[in-house]
Amino acid sequence: MSRGDGERPSAAVLVTGNEILLGLTQDRNSGYLAREFDRLGFSLRRVLTVSDAQDEIVRGLRELVSVDLVVTSGGLGPTHDDRTIAAVAEVADVPLELHEPTLAAINDRTAGFARQRGIPVSSFEAGNRKQSLVPRGAYVLAPVGTAPGVVVALDGGALCAVLPGPPWELERMWHDLAREPRFSRLVERAGALDRQILRVYGTSESAVANAFAESGGDEGGTVTSICARRLEIEVLVRAEPAHRAALDALVAGLRERLGERIYATDDRPLEAYVLEAVGARGWTLAAAESCTAGLVASRIAAIPGASAVLVGGVVSYANEVKRDLLGVSEAVLAAHGAVSAEAAAAMAQGVRRATGADVGVSVTGIAGPEGGSEEKPVGTVFFHLSTPELEHGHHVVMPGGRGDVRDWAATTALHLVRMHVAAPA
Ligand code: ATP
Repeated sequence: MSRGDGERPSAAVLVTGNEILLGLTQDRNSGYLAREFDRLGFSLRRVLTVSDAQDEIVRGLRELVSVDLVVTSGGLGPTHDDRTIAAVAEVADVPLELHEPTLAAINDRTAGFARQRGIPVSSFEAGNRKQSLVPRGAYVLAPVGTAPGVVVALDGGALCAVLPGPPWELERMWHDLAREPRFSRLVERAGALDRQILRVYGTSESAVANAFAESGGDEGGTVTSICARRLEIEVLVRAEPAHRAALDALVAGLRERLGERIYATDDRPLEAYVLEAVGARGWTLAAAESCTAGLVASRIAAIPGASAVLVGGVVSYANEVKRDLLGVSEAVLAAHGAVSAEAAAAMAQGVRRATGADVGVSVTGIAGPEGGSEEKPVGTVFFHLSTPELEHGHHVVMPGGRGDVRDWAATTALHLVRMHVAAPA
C-alpha cells in the first residue's frame, strides 16, 4: 500500500458504525466511494469496517495510513458514540479545538429546527459544541446536516477526509471536498482512466466471456470486469489513456459479437430506457402485477418525468381482482389458472382497458416458497406485453428466493417493454 512515485494515488475507506457491523444498516458509502475513486483514477486498496469505539477507529486508521487518502464515513454526530473526529485527532497527533464559524453555523441551524418542533434551544448546546471541535489545523467542510467534515494529515502521511454517515450527507460533502487543495492535487495526479461500460441483456455470462476472449481480451493493456447483476451482464472496460486504442478495439470486438444484446453504454437505470422507448412512440404505459405487486410501476415512477408515460397500474394479487378490475374471465382462471400465459395476456389487455394506456405489461407468477407444483414450480412467471402493434407472451422459471423472483420478474417485465415497443425497422 505504499505511496509510489508516478503511481496512481492510493486510497482506503474506513466505515465506522456498530449498526453496520451488526448488520442493521447496509453499508452504502463504501460502494459509492469505490465508484468515485474508480471514476477519478485512484487505486482503492482497502475498505475496512470498524465499530464506534474510539480505539477501534484509531487502530483502523493506523492500518490504513500508508495510502495517499483515507476517507472515513460516520461518527460525526452529537452523541457519546460519535467518536471519529477524536480518533482522527489522536492519529494526527493534534489536539481538538473549537471552530467558531462552525459553531455559529450549527447554532443557527439547530435554532430553526428547535423553533419548528418546539424543543428548547438549550438542549442542543452541548451537542453543537461537541460537533464544532475539530483537529487543530484541519480544513473544515461545512456541515450538510449538522456536523462538519474535516480534512487532516494523519501522522504517517496519509491525507484523511472525515465525512458523515448518512449517505446523502456523505455524497454532498464528497463533492465539497473537491475545493480542498491537497485533495484536488491528488485528483490531478490521478487523472481519470478511459472507460467504457457495455450493458448486455439476453445472454449468458459465459457467452460474454467468450466474446471478450474472441475480441482479444485484455492483451492490449485494458482492464475488464464482467459482472452479472439484476439479470444483465455488465462489462466495464478500463484503460490508461495511453491504451485508448486497445480499449476502442476491444469494445468494437464486443459490439460486433454481442450486437443488439448490448442495450446500454452508460449507467442510466433500465427504467429510464423503458420510459424513453415508450415515450419515443408517443405511447403511455400501465402495469398489471400479481406476484410483483407494484414493483414494475414503482420502479418506473422512480425516474423523474415518469408521468409523461406511466398512467397507472393494478395490483391484482387475488383472482377476484384479476377478474373484477382486469376482466380476466372465470373460464381462463378455471382452465389455465392465475399463473398462465392466458391469464397474463388477459391481464395486460385488461389493464390497457382499465387505464386507457397504449401499452399494458403484466406479471403473474409463483414467488414461493409455497405454491409450486410439478407443472409450475416456484419461480414460474408469465409475462405479457400488449401494445397497439403486438401481443407478446413470455415465460420463465427463475431460481432464487421470494425476493429474488419478485425482483427479477419486475426486471424481466421492464426489459420486455424496452425490447418490444421500438418501431419496426
Ligand atoms: P449523524 O449526525 O446523523 O449522527 P454521523 O456522521 O454521526 O451522522 P452515524 O451516526 O455514524 O453518522 O450514522 C447516522 C445514520 O446514517 C445511521 O444510522 C445510518 O442510517 C446512516 N449510515 C451511517 N453510515 C452508513 C453507511 N456506511 N451506509 C449507509 N448508511 C449509513
